[in-house]
Amino acid sequence: MLSTDPYEWLEKSLKTIHRANWYRQVVTIDSTPGPVVQLAGKSALNFASNDYLGLAGDSRLIQAAVNATSKWGTGSTGSRLLSGHRQLHRDLERAIASLKQTADAIVFSSGYLANLGAIAAVVGQRDLILSDQYNHSSLKNGAILSGARVLDYAHCNLEDLKAKLHQHRLFYRRCLIVTDSVFSMDGDLCPLPELLDLAEEFSCMLLIDEAHATGVLGATGAGCVEHFGCQGRELIQVGTLSKALASLGGYVAGSAQMIDFLRNRAPSWIYTTALTPADTAAAFEAIGICQREPQRRTQLWQNVTYLKQLISQQLPHLKLLPSESSILCIKLENAALVYWVGEKLKAAGIFAPAIRPPTVSTSRIRISLMATHEPIHLHQLVDALHHILPSL
Ligand SMILES: *Cc1c(COP(=O)(O)O)cnc(C)c1O
Repeated sequence: MLSTDPYEWLEKSLKTIHRANWYRQVVTIDSTPGPVVQLAGKSALNFASNDYLGLAGDSRLIQAAVNATSKWGTGSTGSRLLSGHRQLHRDLERAIASLKQTADAIVFSSGYLANLGAIAAVVGQRDLILSDQYNHSSLKNGAILSGARVLDYAHCNLEDLKAKLHQHRLFYRRCLIVTDSVFSMDGDLCPLPELLDLAEEFSCMLLIDEAHATGVLGATGAGCVEHFGCQGRELIQVGTLSKALASLGGYVAGSAQMIDFLRNRAPSWIYTTALTPADTAAAFEAIGICQREPQRRTQLWQNVTYLKQLISQQLPHLKLLPSESSILCIKLENAALVYWVGEKLKAAGIFAPAIRPPTVSTSRIRISLMATHEPIHLHQLVDALHHILPSL
């Protein structure tokens, strides 16, 4: 018998994580969400939130959640197919389908579970997945869970994707191309119209993850599909209720048959508890506001344009990663440096996270903008960067 402690490896692994400057910890926010938050007892400007439309502290969403809780209770008590289904869930699914202009939609308990469930349901061992190398963890793990053969293609590289389709497509039954629409750690967009053309040419399904695009891109906030005018083309749209829609949960929107199939075959929908009444009602309210108040999107895009302008004028040497969204990333040499800049920003009262390996391959400060940021907030950010960066 071996006499070694079977948990001994933990200490060593943690040490390795520390040594690589990869160690992460939670930070506590002690206030309602918004452009200014209480961080470790101090007021801080918040550039770390996915609450793009500024709805997470909106009194209408809060009231919707409180009302739903009073009426329907705190828990949904079961999975949707057993005792968990309420009319609220169906109303939310109809609202998502109407926003996305699809025949139907299905709500999951998170965006992560929506990706796991959808991918694992539509492909299996005889099939092929082609996946953008920068895809979100939930897409990558969904691909692994499906049991299909997975090939990564170079980030947004249509030639590489096409070459891989030429080489491999014929040897598999079904093929699924998967991609983020707005890449979550970079802020750039997938080339959706061209991806749809390739999918058609090679008889592939296409799944896009609209987590950072829903509520943000497109005239009505329907996402990247609307931004590119691709409504009506057949694809599988996944997204989250937890970013611009300021609640918790995920969804898949698509054809009636696709959604019907997922209700029967997506394990992460069938075997998990339905969304709470509070989350469901808050997301429903958010979709209404997202459609009725396009000025929130206008304000958000004005902020994006203004910050890019300020940076190019006042910090011309700064390297911003290419972005067409409300996520802007400042590229820095290595994990230790980006951690140091992140800490300096925090000390200056600015909350903008240092994103390091293994989340991404190159270190960066990630800035996400909200509709509710004011010009003075953007000035303060640029001033702080001005003070911190010359000392490098
Ligand atoms: C946040 C995110 C998810 C996960 O959504 P949750 O609802 O938070 O689980 C999935 N995909 C992408 C691209 C994301 O950024």
